Amino acid sequence: MDNLMYKSTRGSKEYLTSAEAIKRGLAEDGGLYMPLTIPKIDLDFIGGMVEDTYSERAFKVLSLYLTDYDKNTLHDICKKAYSDTRFIGGAAPVTSLNDKLNVLELWHGPTCAFKDMALQIMPMLLSEALKMTGEKKDALILVATSGDTGKAALEGYRDVDKIRIMVFYPENGVSAMQKLQMASQEGENVNVVAIKGNFDDAQTGVKEIFASSEIAEKLLEKNTFLSSANSINWGRLVPQIAYYFSAYCDMVKSGKTKLGEKVTFVVPTGNFGNIFAAHLARQMGLPINKLVCASNKNSVLTDFIENGVYDKNREFYTTISPSMDILVSSNVERLLSLISGENGTYSYMDSLKTEGKYTLTEEEKNNVKLGFKAGFTTEEETNFEIRDTFEKYNYLIDTHTAVAMKCAKDYLKDSQGEQVIVVSTASPYKFASSVIEALGKTCELEAVLAPEELESLTKKEIPLPLVKLHEKRIRFKKSIDKNQMAKEVLEF
Ligand SMILES: *Cc1c(COP(=O)(O)O)cnc(C)c1O
Repeated sequence: MDNLMYKSTRGSKEYLTSAEAIKRGLAEDGGLYMPLTIPKIDLDFIGGMVEDTYSERAFKVLSLYLTDYDKNTLHDICKKAYSDTRFIGGAAPVTSLNDKLNVLELWHGPTCAFKDMALQIMPMLLSEALKMTGEKKDALILVATSGDTGKAALEGYRDVDKIRIMVFYPENGVSAMQKLQMASQEGENVNVVAIKGNFDDAQTGVKEIFASSEIAEKLLEKNTFLSSANSINWGRLVPQIAYYFSAYCDMVKSGKTKLGEKVTFVVPTGNFGNIFAAHLARQMGLPINKLVCASNKNSVLTDFIENGVYDKNREFYTTISPSMDILVSSNVERLLSLISGENGTYSYMDSLKTEGKYTLTEEEKNNVKLGFKAGFTTEEETNFEIRDTFEKYNYLIDTHTAVAMKCAKDYLKDSQGEQVIVVSTASPYKFASSVIEALGKTCELEAVLAPEELESLTKKEIPLPLVKLHEKRIRFKKSIDKNQMAKEVLEF
C-alpha cells in the first residue's frame, strides 16, 4: 500500500511522509501539515474496537494516518505511551452524569491536563521519525508556555533519546501550581527558565530564536537543530483523534449508544486543536452529529462559527480558564484547508496577518454551521456551572470543563435526543483555588496548598501526580531578562 502523504495547508507542492511532517512541525510557507486524504472507516472498524484497551484503540486509529511507521514499532509506542503507570486508572474514561449527559475525562495523565494525551506519545513519534529519516543531529525542543503546555511537554520529553527540551514561562503569568510543577521537573535533558515579562514576551523571544540563522548555525556546530512541541505539529494533533473513537466505543460498550447512532461532543476550545481532531474523526466516519465549540469570554470562535467572520481585533480578557485565553486559534487553518481549499486558506491567512480579520463566503459559512455549533460563557456562568454540577451530580469539574458544561446544557435544550459528551480537559485540582472560589468558599491556605483544601472540602481525591507537589525539590530557580533568552539556549 502506498503511504499517506502530507502537504501544507497553503499549497506548496511538496509531499511528505508523516515522519517528515512530524519532524518539521511547520511548513516552510508558514502553513500546517494535513494528510492528502482523510482515511475512511466503517462501523465494523468501530465495532472491532469496543472491547479493546485504550492503547489498542489508539494504535488502530494512528496506523491509518502514520502509514510510514513500522506497525510493530507503532504498536509498542502506543502501549508505552498510554500505559497504566502514565495514565493512572485508564487514559480516557467516560463518566455518565445523567441519561443524556456524559463526560470524557482527558486528564488522567502525569500533568493532569488533556495535553498529556498528545504529549506523552508525540516525543516517541518524533524520536522514531528522527531514526526513520536518518537524522544525525539532536533535536532541541523550545517551548514558550502560559502554563499547561510547558509542563506536559517537559514530562513527555524527559529522558527521551537524542532530544532535549527547554521551556520559558512568564515569571508572573502562570499559577502557583503550574510554576511549582515546572520548577520541580525531573529528567536529565530538561531546562526551565522564567522570563521577566508576560507570555507574549516569552513567545516572541522563542519565535525570534527560531527565525535566527545565526543561532541555527551555532547550534549546528553542536550537532543540534531546533524543533517545537506546539499544537500546530501534526504529531500533536493526530493522537487526539483516537480518544473520540475511544469515547464512542465506551458509549457503545455501556449500552447508552447503539453502534451507528450519532453522538454530540462539546469541546472547551482554545487553539482549535482538540475540536479539530473531533472533526477529523467525524470525516473518517465516526457517527458524530454536532461538535459544539465552547469558548470563554474570549469568544472569537463563537463569532466565527455563527457569522463566518474571524476577527481578532478585540479586547483580550484574562479569565479563570487561562488555557482558552486565545485570540488567534492556529488550527482553524486546518479546517479552512478542508472547506476553502489551498488558495482560500492562503488568502484568509494573509488577511488575518495584515488586517487581523477575514470573512468566509456564504457557502463556506453554511458549511461550517452544518457541523459546528458554538457558545461562550461569562466568568459568572463558568463559576456557577462548577457549583451547580457539584451540587446536582456530586461531580467536580475544573474551570475549562465548566465552560463546556454550560454550552452542553444549552445544547441539550434543543438537541435531537442524542447522547451529549462534554470533553473534560483538566483535573479540578489543577485549578484548585479557582474551583474553591466557584464553590462559594475562600481559599484559606497559600496557593500551592489549595489542592489539599479542595480535597477536604469536596471529599474528592487529589490525583496522584499532584499529591504533595509542594514537598518536591525545586530544581529550576533561574529568572532572566527576555533579551538573554538566546544566550541561555546556547549555554544549555
Ligand atoms: C490547551 C487546553 C485547552 C484548549 O485546547 P485547544 O486544543 O487549544 O483548543 C482547553 N483546556 C485546557 C485545560 C487546556 O490545557
